[in-house]
Amino acid sequence: MGPFEYFEPATVEEAVSLLKKYGEGAKILAGGTDLVVMMREREIKPRYVINLGRIAGLNYVHLDGDKGLRIGALTTIAGLERAPELKSSYRIISQAAARLATIAIRNMATIGGNLCNAAPSADMAPPLLALKGAVKLTGTAGERIVPLEEFFIGPGVTTLKPDELMIEIQVPAVPAHTGGMYLKHGVKGAAGLAVVGVAAVVTLDIRDSVFEEVDIALGAVAPTPIRAKRAEALLKGQKISDGLIEEAARVTSDESSPIDDVRGSAEYRREMVRVRTWEAIRGALKLAKSV
Ligand SMILES: Cc1cc2nc3c(=O)[nH]c(=O)nc-3n(C[C@H](O)[C@H](O)[C@H](O)COP(=O)(O)OP(=O)(O)OC[C@H]3O[C@@H](n4cnc5c(N)ncnc54)[C@H](O)[C@@H]3O)c2cc1C
Repeated sequence: MGPFEYFEPATVEEAVSLLKKYGEGAKILAGGTDLVVMMREREIKPRYVINLGRIAGLNYVHLDGDKGLRIGALTTIAGLERAPELKSSYRIISQAAARLATIAIRNMATIGGNLCNAAPSADMAPPLLALKGAVKLTGTAGERIVPLEEFFIGPGVTTLKPDELMIEIQVPAVPAHTGGMYLKHGVKGAAGLAVVGVAAVVTLDIRDSVFEEVDIALGAVAPTPIRAKRAEALLKGQKISDGLIEEAARVTSDESSPIDDVRGSAEYRREMVRVRTWEAIRGALKLAKSV
């Protein structure tokens, strides 16, 4: 690890002014589970490290019926896994949290770090994309809300400006008869990175057995986490049937653009997208019928 100057600001304002002062040479540190590994492996050599750990008030899960859900960027993945607010409508979030790495990592890793690190395989991204989440960023020009769909630009690249911090994740209220499921397909179980991640959120028109709304998001099969919009459009407003779900799973697979790497070939990944999407839609459908 190269030499760097280390800061522990006590407020968001202080952190932003440090970012403004040191610009591209500075890096934010939250849980450190991505950053420290990259620094050790000399993938990055920041000259200034700004640890957010002393900033109070960025670790929370707030549920407000009509307004939806707000999560502080410094909330740990273990905190999300256990949060009572995420045991019903937003269960897909705690489900994904429980599948991220090991408990030791989850105790340190934060949701803000998972999204800002912007790995294509980030486990928290697909469920939050499928729930139509947004992120609140703050910098010298003030605050802005960015839909998560527009936040990811490429592997490790986001719309965050050099003087900006992520402070909150926002998720709209979930309509009645909605169920969500995240399935992580990995080679080494929960401790390994996703080979394929699929999140499906289904809202039903119970009376007519129709898919009112379906949101499908994928991880690890494109340069960024993505939505499968053609498959979503295929299902929306249609009568529920096995054939339609199979077709949607196939279309989702076509929408993915995986690469060959040590964790799996592109062909294998495309097939796993199809299989896991089918399972995720079926699982979400079952949950939607029960609430
Ligand atoms: C052994 C191991 C296993 C892992 N397994 C998984 C896995 O299964 N699934 C998975 O998704 N990830 C996995 N990871 C990656 C990592 O644990 C997660 O991405 C984690 O959520 C990162 O959060 P953090 O708080 O540790 O981020 P940090 O390492 O502190 O930061 C990550 C990046 O985000 C930036 N950043 C952090 N917070 C903010 C903020 N509030 N505003 C602006 N920028 C910010 C940092 O500058 C840095 O670039 C694993 C890591 C390890 C070491």
